[in-house]
Amino acid sequence: MIQNPIRPTLSLDAPGKRHGHLKLPYSRNDSAWGAVMIPITVIVGKPGPTALLTGANHGDEYEGPIALQALAHEIEPEDVTGRLIIVPYMNTPAFRAGTRVSPLDQVNLNRAFPGAPGGSVTQKIAHYFNDTLVPMADLVVDFHSGGKTLDFVPFACAHYLDDATQQAACVAAVTAFNAPYTLMLREIDAVGMYDTAVEEQGKTFVTTELGGGGTATARSAGIAHKGIRNVLKHAGILPGAPEIAPTVMLDMPDDDCYHTAPEAGLIEPMADLGETVTQGQPLARIWPMDRSGAAPAVVHAQRDGVVVARHFPGLVQLGDTLAVLAVEAG
Ligand SMILES: [Zn+2]
Repeated sequence: MIQNPIRPTLSLDAPGKRHGHLKLPYSRNDSAWGAVMIPITVIVGKPGPTALLTGANHGDEYEGPIALQALAHEIEPEDVTGRLIIVPYMNTPAFRAGTRVSPLDQVNLNRAFPGAPGGSVTQKIAHYFNDTLVPMADLVVDFHSGGKTLDFVPFACAHYLDDATQQAACVAAVTAFNAPYTLMLREIDAVGMYDTAVEEQGKTFVTTELGGGGTATARSAGIAHKGIRNVLKHAGILPGAPEIAPTVMLDMPDDDCYHTAPEAGLIEPMADLGETVTQGQPLARIWPMDRSGAAPAVVHAQRDGVVVARHFPGLVQLGDTLAVLAVEAG
């Protein structure tokens, strides 16, 4: 059987607070016996549950890395009942390159699960999380944002699961995160996702989409800081009760929520993030890139809803997700 070559440079179990790396040997032209070094902080306090916290699963999403760096810096073992395993830059090569997928193998970490111990760099990272770190955890929080090509209203989300008890635990943790929006998310492409791998192992799972455009704002970073502490308070790992403000509960009842660009071109948005739209209302016009004076393509809302995501760059390609709607839950 092929062994995964990733080794932590620190103890994952000993009491106290340690900073180190997950070391993945990576032989290449500029370093024959080099390695990919993924930063990791482990904080072990009084006996209790384990939380595995990750950012930069996609390398161009920044709220998670910011909140997790702050947590690794600020939290001390005496604050913790249980264990925190903090990996701010899960896909470190992609994070350092500022790209969604890894520049080393062009693999999207969040489509690489359950991974392969003898595969490419990204497949090895996926396999190490799937087989080593996730099994240690009771609670898994994986931060996402829109990256360079999408922008979202800030939400934390859970998925519909076959196990009602597990789904209820996920919804409770997502609600404790208390982002301005709280969503039951229908994935466009769930195969190979970390989310799916974690949920299949029966864990309580929280994920987010906190903004986008390939940057963070003071507001979106603040949502991440508060949200992660809230989830850890909810789990009893940090002391105190979650700080709860009003949130808009949203659901995605069907695939009509997704709006795909029918052609390439220049996007003219006609509804902004957070706006309520009705079925048939124009969401965007797409003007041709190769001529003037022609009529634009108009993309209409396929249902009533709230605009929760949009394509971020000003130009769109055929087949891109242009806008996503969700529906306010009762
Ligand atoms: Zn992402």
